[in-house]
Amino acid sequence: MRHPGLRVLVIEKHSVPGGYASAFRRPKQSAVFDCSLHKLSGMAGAGNLRRIFDELGLMDELELVYPNHYFQASLPDKNVLLPNDAVWLKRTLCELYPDDRQGIEQLFADVELHGKNSYFQFQIMNGTYNEPIGALIRDIRFAHKNYKNITMKDAFHKMFKSWEVGEIISMPGCYVGGHPEDLSYLYYLHVIYATLYCGNAYVRGTSQRLSDALVARIERGGGKVLLDTPVDRIEVDCDMRVAGVTASKEFYAARQVFVNAAPKYVVEELLVETLPLQTVKEKLRQLQSSWSTTTLYLVADTAPAECGLDCTETFLIDLPNDEADRLREEAKRTADPLLCELAYWKHSPVEVTNYHALEPNNGHVLIFNLLDSVEHWPQRRTLEYKKKKRRFTEMMLERLYQRFPGFRGHVQYTEVSSPRTYIRYTNNSDGAGFGAFVGTSRNPHIFHHNFPVRGLYFMSTWVAGASYEAAFGYAEHKALSWAPESRLCARTGAFAPGDQTEHMELETR
Ligand SMILES: Cc1cc2nc3c(=O)[nH]c(=O)nc-3n(C[C@H](O)[C@H](O)[C@H](O)COP(=O)(O)OP(=O)(O)OC[C@H]3O[C@@H](n4cnc5c(N)ncnc54)[C@H](O)[C@@H]3O)c2cc1C
Repeated sequence: MRHPGLRVLVIEKHSVPGGYASAFRRPKQSAVFDCSLHKLSGMAGAGNLRRIFDELGLMDELELVYPNHYFQASLPDKNVLLPNDAVWLKRTLCELYPDDRQGIEQLFADVELHGKNSYFQFQIMNGTYNEPIGALIRDIRFAHKNYKNITMKDAFHKMFKSWEVGEIISMPGCYVGGHPEDLSYLYYLHVIYATLYCGNAYVRGTSQRLSDALVARIERGGGKVLLDTPVDRIEVDCDMRVAGVTASKEFYAARQVFVNAAPKYVVEELLVETLPLQTVKEKLRQLQSSWSTTTLYLVADTAPAECGLDCTETFLIDLPNDEADRLREEAKRTADPLLCELAYWKHSPVEVTNYHALEPNNGHVLIFNLLDSVEHWPQRRTLEYKKKKRRFTEMMLERLYQRFPGFRGHVQYTEVSSPRTYIRYTNNSDGAGFGAFVGTSRNPHIFHHNFPVRGLYFMSTWVAGASYEAAFGYAEHKALSWAPESRLCARTGAFAPGDQTEHMELETR
């Protein structure tokens, strides 16, 4: 649309487009399972993703579902339903926890100022953000000094008397793949702003519809999408410039290649070993993968609402985070598989999406996701692996029955995706579900700045930050600053580069 002469080729190894934004069918169960996107952020009001979809003309083809509830927190002794509206959500929390009113008000004030500033980072960079510059600089400095270097956990300890408030309101950290001890408080504020203030929605029919619509958009613009075509190598000429890619034994010439596969995988598997990439490899050593996920896909023989679950999204919370955190620390330190199961599966929160409530036509489907690590998973196709999947299923069902006993006797079908499944399908390092880990220290997302191979650019959640909207926002930002170098361009992902703003990105992420 913006660059009419540009020829774009997208090369994807899987048989369907979308990566995590895809779906698969189980016809015998009359079920369709979404692989990831149950909640797109930025889909209302001033939301960036909705605006980008509008500009791409996607909204004529997609129907969105806006859930009534942000989520439901299922605590050991009660379920707390949170409305999908910031004002009502704040009011609900203040009514439930009057002793914590001050902390709750502080949290929402922080979201409205610092979360908002972080969310609109690209608008700040391109000068279209309508806030007085002096106050903006002061606020950004304040947030970086006081909020970027503390975890959600530490912030909530200071803010709330009741462990429950922090516990409930920390759940959206899972949307970007982090527990309260992992994520920077500033990053978390931006997640709440993106998901709650800028609207969240599900694409009716599954996120495959969205990916298919994007493919149609590329093809209408004269581009081409090759499926079932793994890229084997990115070709680099003797001047350290991209020459194209080799995929399924075919060579595709291109002067610019945009990769959204995981950077470590790209450097280790797609670039020849003899290239002088020592500095990049050093930088990549500091790029820590986010948590992976383990997923249970479930079909019930009746509507989940009949079994007592009508909310679209429920977090099953077992232990206060401080205790769960101690167990996770111990599990990480020892890498003992049984301790990992206890810490990650039994006592950490599990997110349950009631897909039937979002899209009744795709079956009585519930999907469970929790943050997990590949390290304690045996290799695929082994007996231990099968047994482990069985244990995972049993533990998830037990957690479900404890809180929603109506499901007993109604589970018709289950299937598990482990971190190893995610590696197999996406090549994401360690099966990461959310790209690079975003902690409190200065982050290494910038490994790709001044990349020694000219014409090779990295996109994706690995450079943009976790979530679909972040990957899209970054891609838009790059597309806006793109200048054509040639008329031919191959890519396994998104748009184009521009170096002028990289330091600002580092600061605001
Ligand atoms: C279980 C789960 C639930 C999630 N839920 C949400 C949610 O509700 N909302 C949200 O915003 N985000 C969610 N996320 C995060 C979101 O899905 C991702 O951040 C986003 O989709 C990542 O997109 P990407 O294009 O960066 O990477 P990916 O989706 O990982 O895409 C990488 C692509 O590269 C392809 N590829 C890799 N190697 C090769 C090769 N050699 N040749 C050709 N192709 C190759 C892969 O096949 C894949 O298609 C979730 C993630 C997970 C794991």
